[in-house]
Amino acid sequence: RFQSTGRETCFHGRHINPQIYAGLDGSNWQLADYEARGGYQALRKILAADGGMTPEQVIAEVKASGLRGRGGAGFPTGLKWSFMPRQYPGPKYLVCNSDEGEPGTCKDRDILMFNPHIVIEGMIIAAYAMGIGTGYNYIHGEIFEVYERFEAALEEARAAGYLGEKLLGSAYSFQLHAAHGWGAYICGEETALLESLEGKKGQPRFKPPFPASYGLYGKPTTINNTETFAAVPWIIRNGGQPYLEIGKPNNGGTKIFSVVGDVQRPGNYEIPLGTPFTKLLELAGGVTEGRQLKAVIPGGSSAPVLPAAIMNECTMDYDSIAKAGSMLGSGAVIVMDDSRSMVHSLLRLSYFYMHESCGQCTPCREGTGWLYRMVERIATGKGRLGDIDLLNSVSDNIQGRTICALGDAAAMPVRAMIKHFRDEFVALIEAANRTSETALDTESA
Ligand code: SF4
Repeated sequence: RFQSTGRETCFHGRHINPQIYAGLDGSNWQLADYEARGGYQALRKILAADGGMTPEQVIAEVKASGLRGRGGAGFPTGLKWSFMPRQYPGPKYLVCNSDEGEPGTCKDRDILMFNPHIVIEGMIIAAYAMGIGTGYNYIHGEIFEVYERFEAALEEARAAGYLGEKLLGSAYSFQLHAAHGWGAYICGEETALLESLEGKKGQPRFKPPFPASYGLYGKPTTINNTETFAAVPWIIRNGGQPYLEIGKPNNGGTKIFSVVGDVQRPGNYEIPLGTPFTKLLELAGGVTEGRQLKAVIPGGSSAPVLPAAIMNECTMDYDSIAKAGSMLGSGAVIVMDDSRSMVHSLLRLSYFYMHESCGQCTPCREGTGWLYRMVERIATGKGRLGDIDLLNSVSDNIQGRTICALGDAAAMPVRAMIKHFRDEFVALIEAANRTSETALDTESA
């Protein structure tokens, strides 16, 4: 049995409002509790004997909500669902990507732990909308207790007739299973996840073909993130337009942010998209006592870092963060105070990507190691001034030249750190050079 890797800075759902986390205290994850909160009402609504909703109506409602994928890419969910071929002579699959491994992110495991039925209901609705009969939830390795919790919820849902043959007396049938990953970061990439689900080594596939036409076992497959599915029941119960109006245009609804790093109350916070960053920071108790905000990585470790002055002007939504030069990504907000060395922060990130590269393509396999070794050289006082431009050059030669986005994820933080905090790199290199000159002088004297 695996123990949680314990990202100790993550605590579930405090200061949360409207939908996914509402009313949760860790003891009320079971079916009866979920039903008491209005759970499975959306499913009953679409499968109602007196008409219900057609698959097309469900997709139209999700499109109207403006729901964008919560796993990182932010792709419109309703549009993705409409890519699934309606008439297909064979099995089609639905997959939930719960392989949450982005550094700083700890929201999906908490959704599954504290509100597993909301994901199950969201998946059933999605499967119904796309005419899919089988689904899998691929859950990250290293969090075995979450897998067990989800399995327990699946048992409850099957016993209650929410899963299986002829759901709630309708003509529609859906089977849902949990699958346990083993901790590779790259299996969060959708095609690597599919390879892993098929029992192969988890390495990304070339795209195209995209999973909508060639996915699990070569069949049409739709993959969404855990939080995306968790948003669906509310949308169907209350309507797409009200969901859209919670956020701002093109950024509908709420989003869970994992606020980690140098804050006083780290945790998961569900807030409307478009909420000012300063408000989110305030919810998290502000920066460590006695320190100043220095920088923020607003969307998990793959997102470019932004200095405090820029972040303080941002609202927490896809468009505002993109305009500022970064991305909302998975919603991990890594806060760094003025005690942090950006070179050492980058060293840690670079090591992570070097370690997690699957090794399939040369720019990523060789480039991530090269980046790490250069940053290490600078961080340990052996850097040369030319290293800074070389870091940028190697990053340029990785980004956009690899099979999957891990290469980009490794390159973008390097360029952003140098762009915004070049002085720190220069200072470390010059200090190292002065030390070696002094040593030479002493030697010759
Ligand atoms: Fe593997 Fe990296 Fe290539 Fe992605 S970019 S396929 S992780 S080597």
